Amino acid sequence: MYTPDRPFYSLNQYYRECFGGKVYKLSLNGGMTCPNRDGTIDNRGCIFCSAGGSGDFASTAMVYSDRLHRNIPDIPAQLEQARARVSAKIGVKDFAGYIAYFQAYTNTYADVTYLEQLFLQVILQEDILGLSVGTRPDCLEPEKIALLSRLNRIKPVFVELGLQTMHEDSARFIRRGYPLSVFEDTVNRLKDAGLSVVVHVILGLPGESKEDMLATCRYLGRLGVDGIKLQLLHILDGTDLAELYKRNFSENNNNFSIMSLDEYASLVVSIIEQLPPGMVIHRITGDGPKRILLAPLWSGDKKKVLNTIMKEFVMQNTWQGKKYGN
Ligand code: SF4
Repeated sequence: MYTPDRPFYSLNQYYRECFGGKVYKLSLNGGMTCPNRDGTIDNRGCIFCSAGGSGDFASTAMVYSDRLHRNIPDIPAQLEQARARVSAKIGVKDFAGYIAYFQAYTNTYADVTYLEQLFLQVILQEDILGLSVGTRPDCLEPEKIALLSRLNRIKPVFVELGLQTMHEDSARFIRRGYPLSVFEDTVNRLKDAGLSVVVHVILGLPGESKEDMLATCRYLGRLGVDGIKLQLLHILDGTDLAELYKRNFSENNNNFSIMSLDEYASLVVSIIEQLPPGMVIHRITGDGPKRILLAPLWSGDKKKVLNTIMKEFVMQNTWQGKKYGN
């Protein structure tokens, strides 16, 4: 199944198998906030979260406030704007369509009636092949999972959960705001409802060793999630993490070490060779906004990062699943 130029099960390959051609994601903003930012759990957000929440690339221009000061997204306008953004890349003969990605903040943090109306107006569009919904596991009550399951019968629905780490100490440090047991319960309920689950993991959290990060990824393999997004920790200006980073830096404190590109490539390869062969690898690096990226600066050259990781697979003569279950 795996070859030196294709050592893991990429999202691109998966989409081609599902939809018969090239698929692009359209980032949307559903007009919701996050319980970790609005004071319900905390008002500071996760320590690494920039002002745009987890959706820095989602359209915000098309969100306006109604008379009750609720954010109302103008979805048709957002779709048009997002299609225009990716249209430069399209032209390939085998273009299949789009996945609508509700990316900004927590996209199930609203009542079911609102969510149903929001998601239906997107999923019913002809060129939309499916939905990807980024959210938190503590914002998926049974009626919301039931709604996603109904939508999943119209077109595929992927639920993306930001776990970041399985370790409770790290979770407290990043102010994630829920314990691992909540995540695990939600994954099981989503799987029981027939939904695809994609989990975000951050690599390089302060205080985590290589073995800690491997343990998180092995855990997700055992849990049977369908996909994983490996995100390099980005330190973005304006976040609490950035303040911590600057303080450590000025005090010459080594508690906050930043991985080199070679260390990162080696880590990603070690992780992927321990994941199940059928798990879809949605991402192997990050996509932080360069204008506020403080570290690691090498991550701004995405092409170089991807090439270095691919070379590492070849050098180690390894591939996804080679050490799965060891
Ligand atoms: S859960 Fe997402 S949107 Fe909410 S604070 Fe954390 S990173 Fe930001």
